Amino acid sequence: MLLINSPIEQHELFGFPVFIKRDDLLHQAVGGNKARKFAALLEMDFSEIDTLIGYGSAQANSLYTMAAFAQLKGCQLEFYVDHISDWLTAHPCGNYRGALQLGARVIPVARQADRGELSVAGYIEQRVLPARKRAMFVPEGGRFALAARGVEQLAKELADWRSTVGSPNVKVILPAGTGTTALFLSRYFYRNHLDLKVITVPAVGGIEYLRSQFTELEANLACHPQIIDLGRKYHFGKLYRDFVEIWQQTRGRDVEFELLYDPLGLMALRQIQREDPSACLVYIHQGGILGNETMLARYQRKYPELCLS
Ligand SMILES: *Cc1c(COP(=O)(O)O)cnc(C)c1O
Repeated sequence: MLLINSPIEQHELFGFPVFIKRDDLLHQAVGGNKARKFAALLEMDFSEIDTLIGYGSAQANSLYTMAAFAQLKGCQLEFYVDHISDWLTAHPCGNYRGALQLGARVIPVARQADRGELSVAGYIEQRVLPARKRAMFVPEGGRFALAARGVEQLAKELADWRSTVGSPNVKVILPAGTGTTALFLSRYFYRNHLDLKVITVPAVGGIEYLRSQFTELEANLACHPQIIDLGRKYHFGKLYRDFVEIWQQTRGRDVEFELLYDPLGLMALRQIQREDPSACLVYIHQGGILGNETMLARYQRKYPELCLS
């Protein structure tokens, strides 16, 4: 299965033309940036591996994508989470339900008697991995060097497309979690002397945290993406009226955005449109739509006056 060559479509957002790289359409089941970041796993030999081990939130896009990849590779996914909320346990939905249906084991570390003071990552490192010789471990959010392969494929697709565009000023915009996707894209363009500028906005932590994440992956500051400052701090996973409002403004089109990262990406996009109206903008749709089911239920409970369904 090849996870490559998603379409680039022309749309209009907030009154400006925008190209959208539809990585959400990469594959009918496992699209998005996690599929890009984990693509290298598909090419690896799993004959000595029986378990894929990951961790993160019980709602994470990486949970669902890893479950699909484990199924494709014929191994078991064990996904460690701190805890699973009572609500989600009672109403499995979104990525969590999808992953369970694909046979994933989601393990709440908070319920393990031998946890002690360990973080989830520490628990995996000290209590799980030493006894598991046939396991392959993937860090949270796919923040690992192997992710460069799939992301560089995405960069090549953008570079090919860029050669068909006349504009001297092409900007690639995407929201960042770990920043892995934005960094590997920007580094590829820099190293290959391609004039595509990568601009991102932190969805997890703030600007300083994102810079430090970039530096851990790549010491050369010259190839880091530009970071947009929205002038306000948002906490990852929290519900904000601004988020659902900008998301609603994009509704009724044949593209649906997701509700954790895209609201920030769309705010950054709008800010860039205002500051540089002649730029040719490409927004990378990184998938994650399956999570909207859970997010919309949360938003509807918080803001019953909004009509979200
Ligand atoms: C994981 C994810 C991101 C963040 O990607 P990073 O490479 O960690 O920056 C953004 N959008 C969606 C939909 C994601 O699932």
